[in-house]
Amino acid sequence: MKQIQIAIDGPASAGKSTVAKIVAKKLHYIYCDTGAMYRTVTYAALKNKVALDDDQALKALLSKIEIKFVPAEPEQRVFLNDEEVTSIIRTPEITNNVSVVSAQPSVRADLTKRQQKIAAQGGIVMDGRDIGTTVLPSADVKIFLVASVHERAVRRFKENQEKGINTPLDVLEKEIEERDYKDSHREISPLTQAHDAIEVDTTSLNIDQVVEKILEIIKQKENQY
Ligand code: C5P
Repeated sequence: MKQIQIAIDGPASAGKSTVAKIVAKKLHYIYCDTGAMYRTVTYAALKNKVALDDDQALKALLSKIEIKFVPAEPEQRVFLNDEEVTSIIRTPEITNNVSVVSAQPSVRADLTKRQQKIAAQGGIVMDGRDIGTTVLPSADVKIFLVASVHERAVRRFKENQEKGINTPLDVLEKEIEERDYKDSHREISPLTQAHDAIEVDTTSLNIDQVVEKILEIIKQKENQY
């Protein structure tokens, strides 16, 4: 069977990474969380006191950065050089600053190249904002996952509670809207549905149902080969 490329894009907290992870596992494919890469660069910038909108300083910082994914259960581990950043990149401080960093041209150019390298051999499920449009424009399957802002905030609220983070629901709704706005209105590779992507609305679906839907779309595609 041909090892295909699967791109899963969509707004914040639409369930991309949860679903992408399961799909990759079922297909024995590699999973690449590109959001984690932008989050890691944001963490590195904050740590090194680099201004988050200083494109040239971020470019210099990136030349010293290796981002590694190490397979593990229940989630793969993320490393910035030798430092594990798996948990810290999910904190509100990173979440609320990442869109400034991800709008910088040098950051996008650098991470796009790294992502294309990871995906080159196929057998990959990659999730993000611009995978179907920019990183893997020839991906065999493109999914655009959406859900209402309220539903996404509720999901993030529950996730946060498990981690002991207590941001109120209305604040989360506002943060999600703001991040979507910034991600959709930046100049380079804004969040947008590729013309050949299939939209899946997850508002009233559970994880298993979304996974099933995506596997069905992949199967149909594979039958065409
Ligand atoms: O997917 P996640 O919420 O972890 O992504 C964090 C941020 O990284 C997004 O809000 C966006 O600013 C940026 N991002 C991006 N392009 C991608 C993946 C993520 O700009 N392909």
